Amino acid sequence: MQAINELYPLLHSPGKVVITTHQKPDPDAMGSSLGLYHLLVQLGHTVQVISPTNWAAFLNWMPGCENVLNYETNIDKCNTILNDADWIFCLDFNALNRTKRMATALENAKTQKVLIDHHREPQTEVFAYGISNTAKSSTCEMVYDFIMHSGHIEKLTNEMMQCLYAGVMGDTGSFRFASTSASVFEMIADFKRRGLEHTVIHDHIYDNFLENRFRFIGHVLMNRMEVDYEINTALIWVTKQDLLRFQIKTGDTEGLVNYPLGIQGIKLAALIIDRDEKRKWSFRSKGEFDCNTFARQHFNGGGHFNAAGGERDESLEANVNLFKTVIQNYKSQLSTI
Ligand code: 5GP
Ligand code: MN
Repeated sequence: MQAINELYPLLHSPGKVVITTHQKPDPDAMGSSLGLYHLLVQLGHTVQVISPTNWAAFLNWMPGCENVLNYETNIDKCNTILNDADWIFCLDFNALNRTKRMATALENAKTQKVLIDHHREPQTEVFAYGISNTAKSSTCEMVYDFIMHSGHIEKLTNEMMQCLYAGVMGDTGSFRFASTSASVFEMIADFKRRGLEHTVIHDHIYDNFLENRFRFIGHVLMNRMEVDYEINTALIWVTKQDLLRFQIKTGDTEGLVNYPLGIQGIKLAALIIDRDEKRKWSFRSKGEFDCNTFARQHFNGGGHFNAAGGERDESLEANVNLFKTVIQNYKSQLSTI
């Protein structure tokens, strides 16, 4: 993988570009894709953003979201666009298997791929150009750097700032996590000086749910959460029945895993959801517990040090039992942090 700055001169010749991201895109995935989309359109490229799956309705306000294609519902069209592209930008993920059913098409596409991402252990051999920096708060911050370093900061529009702000806000827990570096606040200060109105973005993402989601959270915290104070760990499980009963849609479970971290002393929160064909895990830690390695070793996953995910085929019950067994291996570490 060549350094991203080697790509900057090539941006000047207009081409056909696909921008894609990880399945079930979150604000950082969608915001970075659309932020880059608006830049490349201004530079004269023909650009298509493709999401591997559907996404949460709370992202629909993002300028440009109306033009994003869902791979799963437009497979033929997306495959044609992918095969025809001059460039495929891969944002906010670093391994092709994070794109679910789209992974084969991405693997087979002969097009040069470009990586912009902040997760651990990138599949660098797949990408012709790119940047992978785990110290960065978010892929949105990296797209801001890309715009600045490629000499196009004057092309930063209000639409782009809205998309990029949403992603940084999402990935930093509203500017709370340790990843919220001085460069994040410098970027936000730049946005404010350029006229960005930020409060409405918090409303779009966090105050935009239906009542049923809060009834669901009440149910889950009451009936589906186990706290083990000996190992400072909490586990939440969500059954298929729970999802049906409360009419839970993509995005409604976002943030659920963070609730137990608000309990005094809890250092690790795990959430499992019995979703579709897989059991999907989320892990969040405070301090020294490495969620990325834990998710990789036991749950076919990965992510960041303090936030990772994974998935396994076995039943919900088998997954929960597996978690309860393997977590005992970390007892000495978890009981002392
Ligand atoms: P979440 O728990 O919000 O789904 O994901 C937390 C972090 O872990 C995100 O940065 C996400 O990209 C990553 N992640 C979630 N699920 C998986 C997975 O199955 N595999 C890998 N490699 N990363 C994941
Ligand atoms: Mn991200």
